[in-house]
Amino acid sequence: MVEREIKDVLVIGAGPAGLAAAIEVASAGLACVCVDRLGPGGALINLGAIHEFGEDIAGPDLVARLTDQATAAGVELAFGEIATLEQGAAWTARTDSGESWSAHVVIVATGLLKGRLGLADEADWEGRGLSHCAICDGPLYAGQPVAVVGSGGWADHEAAELQALGAIVTRVSVDQPVISLEGTDGLEALVLERAGNRVRVPARAAFVYRDERPSLDFAPESLARDGSGHIVVDGNGRTALPSLFGAGDVRAGSSRHAKAALEDGRRAARAVIAALKRQVQ
Ligand SMILES: Cc1cc2nc3c(=O)[nH]c(=O)nc-3n(C[C@H](O)[C@H](O)[C@H](O)COP(=O)(O)OP(=O)(O)OC[C@H]3O[C@@H](n4cnc5c(N)ncnc54)[C@H](O)[C@@H]3O)c2cc1C
Repeated sequence: MVEREIKDVLVIGAGPAGLAAAIEVASAGLACVCVDRLGPGGALINLGAIHEFGEDIAGPDLVARLTDQATAAGVELAFGEIATLEQGAAWTARTDSGESWSAHVVIVATGLLKGRLGLADEADWEGRGLSHCAICDGPLYAGQPVAVVGSGGWADHEAAELQALGAIVTRVSVDQPVISLEGTDGLEALVLERAGNRVRVPARAAFVYRDERPSLDFAPESLARDGSGHIVVDGNGRTALPSLFGAGDVRAGSSRHAKAALEDGRRAARAVIAALKRQVQ
């Protein structure tokens, strides 16, 4: 096992919130590692044009820009799925394979897990019709029936995207449980419960935006969460646990926009910088 030095700051999650936080703390001269299970980008990787930045920029281009800035600022970008986070003399985050990173301060920026239907065989349908990304998989379904499961949030946006790509969209709202997925050559239909009746909805793909819970399985139980499991933070991203911050979609009250996630990450980073400066004075 690699013995690593204790960093000033560990950022868990390299989506927009995590990358923005890491860039800010490293630019202030702090030693920072940013760990992600998939590599930099988070949900930005799957976004088309984002309009909120005073310019139109595609998600992957923004990821490239942020990654370059992080590298230039001296952020160590690392791969790993964090399974536990514990506080001793410093915070230590570990993966199931035994990798670990320690730091005096941790910023949790792990966003949301993909939507779920709650079916036992759900994983078997990934890549066979189950999707969470309209612009990635939508072009495959031009002229074909698809279902968008979920309402509000980004589900409406994704449904419009699929329609623009030529798919024939059926909306499945949160009060219609999906009982099963059916098909022999990929997905052919969803079976729903609608007003007490079972209904078969033909669909070659199901785009799921329901039950997108925060990715916090690794976090200490003592970390305060709201009713839907998001981290409770103050206006500076500070949790009630010492030296632990939260930023982006994972925190309670997030507006779930890329620009807000970036601002959130920077805000938490500024509070971290101020706290660490106070400690050395
Ligand atoms: C379908 C959809 C469409 C959207 N469209 C737009 C849009 O058009 N415009 C817009 O502004 N916003 C859009 N958003 C919202 C935007 O993508 C999010 O608000 C933003 O990405 C949140 O950033 P984040 O850094 O908080 O989380 P994320 O981007 O989700 O990043 C979290 C990162 O943490 C990592 N992670 C999670 N758990 C662990 C773990 N245990 N160990 C290590 N790493 C972990 C993940 O791999 C991920 O990289 C959309 C979102 C969705 C779902």
